[in-house]
Amino acid sequence: MLNQKPKNQDLNWPMTLPRYMEIPTFMRTPLIKDPTEFDIAMIGIPYDGAVTNRPGARHGPREIRNSSSMMRAIHHVTRVNPYELCRIGDAGDVPFTRVYNVEETHHDITRFFAQFYQAGILPLSAGGDHSVTLPILRALAEDAPIGMVHIDAHTDTWDELMGCKFSHGAPFRRAVEENLLDPKRTVQIGIRGAQNTSEGWDYSIDSGMRVIFMEEFTKLGVDAVVAETRRFVGNGPTYISFDIDSLDPVYAPGTGTPEIGGLTTIEAQALLRGLRRLNLIGADVVEVSPPFDPSGNTALVGATIMYEILCLLAETVAARS
Ligand code: MN
Ligand code: MN
Repeated sequence: MLNQKPKNQDLNWPMTLPRYMEIPTFMRTPLIKDPTEFDIAMIGIPYDGAVTNRPGARHGPREIRNSSSMMRAIHHVTRVNPYELCRIGDAGDVPFTRVYNVEETHHDITRFFAQFYQAGILPLSAGGDHSVTLPILRALAEDAPIGMVHIDAHTDTWDELMGCKFSHGAPFRRAVEENLLDPKRTVQIGIRGAQNTSEGWDYSIDSGMRVIFMEEFTKLGVDAVVAETRRFVGNGPTYISFDIDSLDPVYAPGTGTPEIGGLTTIEAQALLRGLRRLNLIGADVVEVSPPFDPSGNTALVGATIMYEILCLLAETVAARS
């Protein structure tokens, strides 16, 4: 089936132009007009109305698109060229109707992602604050709860805050409550930083998630963390959610809730490369906040992490066709 579809090279691929030219789509891929022509859709979610501290992630998709013009095709370790394996495009940003209402905005996100899910297209999105992952999971886990590899300084399983149940500190508690996420197939990696209560950590552990705090990550090393993650999520449908604050702020200062003592960029890359050939159903990179990113490096890191994940999703598409 795959061989009958036109590849990216046949779709007026803008990647052949100089990097600084034209409207900056993700990775310089074609803009998606007809979703049925694509296998993977990259999507911007410019929303930061649910942050608990510094805002700015609404500007993430635009800056990641700009920095993603630095990305190329062939992965230097795996030699995967995602553009040869499947058809990849930029589906634009989620159209919002009421950005001043968290729940309405989440509804818009679910509705937008549902059309790709129903067409069998894998979404790879750029946030946006981490609250956006809950409405994505509502679209992708419509039939049965899914597993997740969650890379973050925070478990994001806190409860209601200031009368809101949908802040960026709460998406995965809500996802378990809504039966979208199977906690017994969820791994949280890179957790650290003091909290005022332990309720989020406790919820993750008590619900059955495998929580790998930063100290355990350092002690085990990347290869052992990969093995543990793969053992835990198994062969079932799995989503990857990558919060840029999992990285040490040395590498990714442009984010709302930075925590020192985090992953290095090469550790994050090695971790993601260890997730090849999982049964992936989508992924996101969230919490890049350009106003706190004067050097632009956080956006470059976000774009590069997206490229790493794009290679994983492309292999998943190739394996199933
Ligand atoms: Mn998060
Ligand atoms: Mn975080």
